[in-house]
Amino acid sequence: MTVRNAGDIIDTILIPEDRLRARIAELGRAISEDYEGRDLLLVSILKGSVIFLSDLMRCITVPHQIDFMAVSSYGVGARISSGVVRIVMDLATSIEGRNVLIVEDIIDTGETLDYITRILRERGPKSLRICTLLNKVERRRVDIPVDYVGFDIPNAYVFGYGLDVDEFHRNLPFVATLRDGATVHGAG
Ligand code: 5GP
Repeated sequence: MTVRNAGDIIDTILIPEDRLRARIAELGRAISEDYEGRDLLLVSILKGSVIFLSDLMRCITVPHQIDFMAVSSYGVGARISSGVVRIVMDLATSIEGRNVLIVEDIIDTGETLDYITRILRERGPKSLRICTLLNKVERRRVDIPVDYVGFDIPNAYVFGYGLDVDEFHRNLPFVATLRDGATVHGAG
């Protein structure tokens, strides 16, 4: 079994680098204005949001801290979210009394963020908001309020810019759609 190159499984480049850069700069400006003079803790949901976080935080001009949390849906490797979520790595810091901004790569059904926000709200943050790079509006099953959205996208499996396809190709500098029926692992 070999791992197929990204070029062999890409259908289209949905969001090229320049559009990502421009939109993330806008998000950074909006967040900086909203949190001016306020405490801010960015909570990045691993692993998909790491590239977004690292670019976004460099566009945020107000002082802030970062922390990480990892969750997984049961049935890892499946390309469809199972709706059952658990914490696999928790935050290192307390969020009590803090202004928390969750940084997520993509919201699909909304079930992951519904779970995360319920858990985090119980910890008594001063405020809890959500920033997602990508938003698959059509697929939403749980209505969660999203404060900052990079791009509304159609219902297609996407990868690159932190998002994986079977844990590969997170390093692509753009967001791509997967060719119909394409798999990462191939013979030969
Ligand atoms: P939700 O719980 O909102 O249905 O799913 C959110 C999670 O599913 C995301 O954090 C991401 O890990 C995964 N996910 C949903 N859609 C996609 C997609 O198109 N591509 C990738 N790589 N992951 C996705």
